[in-house]
Order: sequence, then C-alpha cells, then structure tokens
Amino acid sequence: MSDCKNGAEHLKSLKDGRTVYLDGELVGDVTEHKAFRNSVRSAAALYDFQARPENIELMTFQPNGSNRRVNRAWQMPKSYEEMVKRRKALQAWAALSCGFMGRSPDHLASSLVGQRMGLNVFRKNGEARAKAFADYFDYATKNDLFLTYVIINPQAERGKDWGEQKEDLVARVVDEDSTGITVRGAKMLGTSSIMANEVFVANLQPLKPGEEDLAFSCALPMNAKGLRVLSRKSYEAHAVSIYDNPISSRFDENDALMYFDDVKVPWERLFLYRDPDACRAQFHDTQGHNFQNYQSQIRLSVKLTFLAGLARRLTEAIGTTRMPQVAEQLGMFAAQVGGVNAMLSGMEASGSQFDEWWVPNKHFMYSAQVLTQELYPRLVQTIRDLAGGALIMLPSSALDFGNPLLKAIIDKTQHAAAMEPEHKVKFLKAAWDAIGSEFGSRHVQYEMFYAGARFVTCGHSMRTYDWQHATGLVEGLLASYDLQQVLKHVQR
Ligand SMILES: Cc1cc2nc3c(=O)[nH]c(=O)nc-3n(C[C@H](O)[C@H](O)[C@H](O)COP(=O)(O)OP(=O)(O)OC[C@H]3O[C@@H](n4cnc5c(N)ncnc54)[C@H](O)[C@@H]3O)c2cc1C
Repeated sequence: MSDCKNGAEHLKSLKDGRTVYLDGELVGDVTEHKAFRNSVRSAAALYDFQARPENIELMTFQPNGSNRRVNRAWQMPKSYEEMVKRRKALQAWAALSCGFMGRSPDHLASSLVGQRMGLNVFRKNGEARAKAFADYFDYATKNDLFLTYVIINPQAERGKDWGEQKEDLVARVVDEDSTGITVRGAKMLGTSSIMANEVFVANLQPLKPGEEDLAFSCALPMNAKGLRVLSRKSYEAHAVSIYDNPISSRFDENDALMYFDDVKVPWERLFLYRDPDACRAQFHDTQGHNFQNYQSQIRLSVKLTFLAGLARRLTEAIGTTRMPQVAEQLGMFAAQVGGVNAMLSGMEASGSQFDEWWVPNKHFMYSAQVLTQELYPRLVQTIRDLAGGALIMLPSSALDFGNPLLKAIIDKTQHAAAMEPEHKVKFLKAAWDAIGSEFGSRHVQYEMFYAGARFVTCGHSMRTYDWQHATGLVEGLLASYDLQQVLKHVQR
C-alpha cells in the first residue's frame, strides 16, 4: 500500500455498480465507458500526483489517529501559514487540469472542513446528528474520499416555493423507520458525480417552516440502491482526438441530475433532519460556504492564469502582440487576473480566528465571487476579440495533416512568425476547445452559476459587508460641519 491514496485505488473504487445513464442507456463501468474514461483517469491522476514521493509533503498531511497521509484539502488550518500551505496543494492539483476540473475532490473536502468547524450547528438538530456528521467527516478524511454534492433543487416552477412544486420533483423524505429514512425526488447537477465516491446532499436554497420533508442533509455512496444519475451530454464522447480537443477529451468532469428513487439513508448518514433553518445554518453559520467558495477561487486563479497564457500566445500566433491597442488589452487582461490573485491572497491574509482555526475573510471571498462570475465571460470575450478568425480557420481535424496535399497547404496558410504551422494549429485548437467549443461554453455557464445566480451572490456580499464602517465615514464627514455654522458665516 502506498503512503497515501493513488490513482489505481481511485479507479478501483469507481467500479462499484453505480447507476449512470447516458443516451438512453445504462452506462455500466464508468472507468471503461468511452464517454467518461479519460476524465475519470484525470481524476485518478490527481491521486497519482499526490502519491509521488516528491509531492507527498506538498500535497498531503497525516490526520490525527490515521496511519496514512491524505490530501491537504482535508486539513483544518490553524494559522495563516497552514492556510497558505494548504492552498499551495490545491493550486498544484488545479494546475493539472489548468483549472478546468471545478469539482475536483478538494471542493467538497473544503466544504466539509468548514462545516466541521461549526459542529454546534448540527448539535442544535440533535446530538445524534452531530455525531453522525463528525464520524462521517472522520471517515471521509481518513479514506481521502472524492465527494460531489447536490445542494440545489431542479428549477421547475421558479416562482413557487420548493414545498409547492409537483410531488416527487424535489428530493424529500417520504418514509422513516428504525434503520433510517427514505428519500424520493431530484437534485440538480451533481458535477463530477461519475468520478466521485459519494454524494453529499443538502439544501443551500432557503427553506421555510412547513417544508420539513425537504429539510435534511446526508451522504450516500454513489452505488446506493435507487440513486439514478442522469448524465448530460458527454463532451468527451464527442471529442475528435486529443489533438483536436485536448481539454474536453480529458477534463469533462460531467454534470448530472440525481434522482433519488426511494433511496434509503441510514441514521448514521443523516446529518440534519426536518429542520429548515438548520439547513441554512449548515453552510452559513459554519464555515462551510466560506471554505467551499474559497476553494473555488483558488481553482479559478489557476484557470484565469491559463486564460492569460492563451490570450498572450494568441496574439503571438497572429503577430499582434506589439500593436499598442492589443498590448493595452493584454495589460488589462493581466491586471484583472492579477486582481483575482490579489483577492485570493487578501482573503487569506485578512482572515480571522474562528475557534482554533484560521478562516478566510468572508466578505473578501464573496467580493471575489461576485466579481469573477462577471469577469470570466468578459475574459472569454476578450480572447475572442483578440483572435478574429484564427480560432475558426483551422483544419477539420488532425487527419488533414495525414494528407500530403492538405499538409502542404496548411503549412503555407498557417504561417506565423512566432510558431511553426503545426504548433500554431495545435495551439489554436486548444484555445477553441477552452473557450469556444460546447465544453468551453459550459465553462462560461459554470463560472457564472456554480455559486448561485448573481442576485444570490450579491446578496451574500450585501449581507457580509461592513456597512457600519462605510456609512461611519460618511457620517464622520457630515459631522465635520453643520447648517448653523454656514448660516452664521453667510450672515456675517
Ligand atoms: C455547469 C454547472 C454545474 C453545476 N454543478 C452543481 C453541483 O455540482 N451541485 C449542485 O448542487 N449544483 C450545481 N449547479 C447548480 C448551481 O448551483 C445553480 O445553477 C445555481 O445555484 C443557480 O441556481 P439555478 O440554476 O436554479 O438558477 P436560478 O436561481 O433559477 O437563476 C436563474 C436566473 O433566473 C432569474 N431568477 C431566478 N430566481 C430569481 C429571483 N428570486 N430573483 C431574481 N431573479 C431570479 C435570474 O435571472 C437568474 O440569473 C451547477 C450549475 C451549473 C450551470
């Protein structure tokens, strides 16, 4: 057994008989299916990376009471220094997919780390529920599990409350006995569920009194009886080759609707039960929401750096880098990416002590979230603007290079001062895969919505900003003069 979990172990753990559907059929083994196998291997590669002797210290730590090291994502940082060390491990993982795997295992680990810091929230719902959560955290940590989550309901009739939706649409409790509860209905978009070990179920959207049947939180193995995973279209399956689609052919982490077809949840896997307010508190009164979105910003900082690299190479490919207007656009691009990195450093450095742990500055995290969900589509737009037709005037596929007549024409027409024609085509195909393909388009949607629609993220920002300090400055100014003074002055 290696010092920590490796890729082979992860692949083996996914051969568990889970029920995944694609194109009308049951998928079978996700590690072998042509729609998923490369992405699943990219997930396994994360564990191989951490298990390499030269990376063990960077990537892993030994939890108390464990005889094996696990990824640093499970570490609850006790100081700023530990937080930075942890972040470097997360950035190293994100770099392996250039930030395109949004729900890599460190996302849920971060959420649970933050939730574990607020165990009292679970205690309010009962000592047994708090014990179930603490035990699960321990189990998931020691086994270095890859978890996904479903915490959002299908949109259905958005103008109605969740409890008013059609029966069996939103996942809810339909039965209870001495062994546990039974859940029926759906949650939307479990990203990475095809490559995760377990799914964490909760409610991020507010519930109200009367919606107790919906108000639960639990974790289930992906092969739980009755758990049906309805995959969206696989971009990996439609990738032409690694040369044509170097990103979507390997990093399509997948998104899937989860349908709970009378799934049994044992009591020891039930963390909250029949308590609408506790479902809110699980994320917002603990550090769960803070840590999961802090992880997202860590991952995004890598992805935006990759986009900056794309933008720069693009201008080199078509020879525009030194044009003053293009240089200005690149400078603006770099400033925005630099700003995101600065916000990341800021939320760590201006974090605070929460009990014995160091936690990110919540408002800075929400600021970054609001700004980056708008920034990502803008940066993609800038790359398109810099590119012109270069992203489209490309050979139909790598096979064109195999035809000597076509290769000769490609070599002439893809001329560039800074790149050989073959390299230029290779680069431009990667750029299109990242920003223009169906996969690239899904990423725009992801960055705009993974943390909630804008009215939701702005709401978090509104609630966590120090308005008192801001309005205090305004009132301070107003207090430095008054009407009577002015009137006296005028009368004199
Ligand atoms: C690629 C992708 C991956 C995802 N992965 C996951 C995952 O792994 N796990 C998971 O649980 N969820 C996941 N999600 C779901 C994600 O969290 C939600 O999409 C997000 O929270 C927004 O909720 P919604 O889709 O219901 O949109 P809505 O909240 O319905 O918002 C859509 C739009 O409707 C309008 N609108 C709706 N309600 C209001 C209102 N009250 N006031 C004003 N305007 C309103 C706004 O224009 C808004 O932009 C994923 C989503 C995407 C796109």
